[in-house]
Parts: sequence; C-alpha cells; structure tokens
Amino acid sequence: MLHSLHKIYPTIDIGAHIIGEPLTVSWEADPNFMGAFKNNLPGHYRYQELLFGHFVQDGFPEHQRGLFLVSDDISFTAYWAEGAVTTALNAVWGVVHHLGGASHPDNPGPGDMWSHLAPIRLS
Ligand SMILES: Cc1cc2nc3c(=O)[nH]c(=O)nc-3n(C[C@H](O)[C@H](O)[C@H](O)COP(=O)(O)OP(=O)(O)OC[C@H]3O[C@@H](n4cnc5c(N)ncnc54)[C@H](O)[C@@H]3O)c2cc1C
Repeated sequence: MLHSLHKIYPTIDIGAHIIGEPLTVSWEADPNFMGAFKNNLPGHYRYQELLFGHFVQDGFPEHQRGLFLVSDDISFTAYWAEGAVTTALNAVWGVVHHLGGASHPDNPGPGDMWSHLAPIRLS
C-alpha cells in the first residue's frame, strides 16, 4: 500500500508518519468465520429477524430492555452499508422510545410503523 501511495503522492513520505508496527488481524481467523456476505444463510432467518427487530423492546422483560445493537451484522443484508445505516436509525428510535421520547406525529419512526413493516416472524 505504501508503495502504491508513493507512486500517487511521490513528494509525501507517508511512511514517516507510521509510529507503530502495522498489525493485520484477519477476520478469517475469528471463531465461526463464515466469509463475507454469508451472514444470511439458510436457517439464519430466525436469528436475523430477532436481531433486526430487537430495537422494538416493549414486549421484552424489563431487565432485557435498554441494550441496542447496530451494524451491518444486525441487518437483513449483512455486510452492506445500507443495513448499517438502517439499523442505526432503528436504534435511534429505540433509544428515544426507551427514554420516553417519541417521533413527530407527522414523521413516524421505524418502531411506530413496526406492525406494518416488521419482517414476518416464523412459527
Ligand atoms: C473491502 C470492502 C468493500 C465494501 N464495499 C461495499 C460496497 O460497495 N457497498 C456497501 O454497501 N458496503 C460495502 N462494504 C461493507 C460496508 O463497508 C459495511 O457494511 C459498513 O461499513 C458497516 O458499517 P458498520 O457501522 O456496521 O461497521 P464498521 O464500519 O465496521 O464500524 C465499526 C466501528 O467500530 C469500531 N470498533 C470496533 N471495536 C471497537 C471497540 N472495542 N471500541 C471502539 N470502537 C470499536 C471500528 O474501528 C469501526 O470503526 C464493504 C466492506 C469492505 C470491507
């Protein structure tokens, strides 16, 4: 990478700004690694549905409320930016709702529309 950057910016010594030994951690070494874009395999739907919908917590026991997960991992389209953004927006609604707030009536949030938009729950 430094070699390539030097070709693009020959007058800038990027290497001089490196203050530590670069460390690469491969997710392929993580336990249960499934590869990129493989978090939605057959059989995963029930987990994905639970993860994606966890921001609507009114039906949760009291002691399980208040933790909101966000990221492409939580989305239905694992490892795409869109899912990262939508789950973040969902969590914002969840936090606001958890703290007693509400969306503007003319601009309902994802939790307000949940009964219409929620993914199908399998039996
Ligand atoms: C090579 C590549 C190409 C891609 N191309 C596309 C594409 O074309 N289109 C598309 O839609 N998506 C693409 N993606 C996927 C997209 O980049 C991700 O889905 C998106 O960035 C996920 O956003 P996120 O906020 O969920 O997670 P991340 O962007 O991974 O953010 C997580 C953040 O948490 C930080 N973090 C981790 N641990 C800790 C800790 N303990 N304390 C504090 N901070 C911590 C990390 O440093 C990171 O900044 C690509 C991804 C890769 C790797």
